[in-house]
Amino acid sequence: MQDRHGHRISYLRVSITDRCNERCTYCMPVELQEWLPRAEILTYEENLHVIRIAAELGVTKIRITGGEPLTRRGVIDFIGQVAQVAGIRDLGISTNGTLLTRSVAEVGDLGRQPRSATAATVARALRAAGVRSLNISLDTLDRQLYAQITGRDFHSQVLAGIDAALAVGFDQLKLNCVLMRGRNEDDLVPLIEFAAERNLILRFIELMPVSTTEVLDDHNFMSILHAQRLIESHFGALIPEPSFRTNGPATYYQVPGRNQWIGFIGAMTNLHFCESCNKLRLTCDGKLRPCLGSYLEFDIMKPLRGGASDEELRQFFLDVVERKPEQHDFRNNYQPDRKMIAIGG
Ligand code: SAM
Ligand code: SF4
Repeated sequence: MQDRHGHRISYLRVSITDRCNERCTYCMPVELQEWLPRAEILTYEENLHVIRIAAELGVTKIRITGGEPLTRRGVIDFIGQVAQVAGIRDLGISTNGTLLTRSVAEVGDLGRQPRSATAATVARALRAAGVRSLNISLDTLDRQLYAQITGRDFHSQVLAGIDAALAVGFDQLKLNCVLMRGRNEDDLVPLIEFAAERNLILRFIELMPVSTTEVLDDHNFMSILHAQRLIESHFGALIPEPSFRTNGPATYYQVPGRNQWIGFIGAMTNLHFCESCNKLRLTCDGKLRPCLGSYLEFDIMKPLRGGASDEELRQFFLDVVERKPEQHDFRNNYQPDRKMIAIGG
């Protein structure tokens, strides 16, 4: 699938829930107190149907996200089914990492798993279900600051979750850190050291205007350039690594003198950010979104539930791709009417 601007679409990000066990200031709006009713969330069957249609049209990569995807009951079975969809070669999940060390039984999959598997950690079960790449969010190594940012004291669970994921051995394990001026500037170097010790890829992400809690202004926005300068004042000049690609929007650099690469996701300041975009998003309430930073979204739940044929659904998909904007609207006073927690990061 290719849009009018030359974007070749091969990647679908699927948010399976708007629920989360954390309350990150930049993601979750204060006024959001109620979750969507279950009937307004796509069932796993419906998600699989859309994923099959996408795969028929050339999507090869799926990332499951949320909200916190591991809070949804039955998620491991679902992921196992996604891995079986013909044409899907790369399956990833984005998580806050808090539930990775739990046993499968605890996250609600007990009845569906063989007895021997119930003792497995969620991390191990995800790998066994076919997840190749795991992204874990970690903005700081400071427990108190972590609690301030996420609204929850789950720092030690996340660190244990990272260890559990390392023990399992995913093809790709990445850490994502959202940059916040005045909050985690002092954490960048320690996070790089933390990633180096574990041989993890670390990426720094610019804050995007998708929450009403963390309004973007000069007090809290840290550009990737600013982050890079802070990092270089410690390590020396970073070495650009244009050939290092992970199928995402990050630009990568080598830390001098080290076998370590770090990525920068400059959604706000990198003017070429959208050029290589290969993504569509499916929100948990059944909207196909051609771009995270644009109001455009198209309700695929309606035709799905209305008994549309696969041919009609394929056409729906192609029409959405046709409407994909050239670039996001974040720089044009974009005011979110949908929050990250609902769209899926
Ligand atoms: N709960 C999972 C997690 O936290 O990784 C998956 C969903 S979360 C919405 C996906 C990613 O979006 C996370 O890395 C999170 O840090 C990032 N994110 C959320 N709100 C953001 C914002 N306003 N700007 C930039 N990144 C954001
Ligand atoms: Fe939850 Fe992830 Fe959003 Fe934080 S960033 S509130 S962990 S969905």
